[in-house]
Amino acid sequence: MDGSKRNMWLSVVAVVLFAFAGYRVFFGASNKLDLPDTFTGYGVCLACQEETIVVFKKGEKHPYRCEACGAQAVYLWWFCNDCGYRFIPELIRKPGEPPRPTPYPYCTHCSCNSVSGWDPENPAQNPEGDARLPEWP
Ligand SMILES: [Zn+2]
Ligand SMILES: [Zn+2]
Repeated sequence: MDGSKRNMWLSVVAVVLFAFAGYRVFFGASNKLDLPDTFTGYGVCLACQEETIVVFKKGEKHPYRCEACGAQAVYLWWFCNDCGYRFIPELIRKPGEPPRPTPYPYCTHCSCNSVSGWDPENPAQNPEGDARLPEWP
C-alpha cells in the first residue's frame, strides 16, 4: 500500500469514527425520549368506580392500584369503534391472581372486535356511553 492510499484509508476510518461519535451524541441522548419506560393510560377502578389516570411501567400488568381506595382494581378503558361505547374488557379469573383483562378484547356492549385503547384526547373516540363494568372482585 503506498502512502496516498494509506492516507485515504485513514481518513475513511476517521470519518466513520466521527460519524459514529456524532450518532451517539445526537441520538444516544434522546433514546430515553423515544422509548419511555413509563406510560400513561385512562382507567377506572372496579372497586370504587373512580376514573383515574394511570402511570404504569413497561411490562407492568393490569390491574393497577387505585389511588382513591387502595384496591388493585384499576383497568384501562377501551373504546368500541362500532357502537362508540367505552368498556373494560372481559376479565380472566385465575386462582391466586388478580383478574386480568382478556388479551383479545371485544366490546362488552355490542360484542364486536373493532376496538382500540381509549384516549380522551382523540376526538374520534368521544364515548356514546359506558358499557356495564365487569363484576368486582
Ligand atoms: Zn378504587
Ligand atoms: Zn361495541
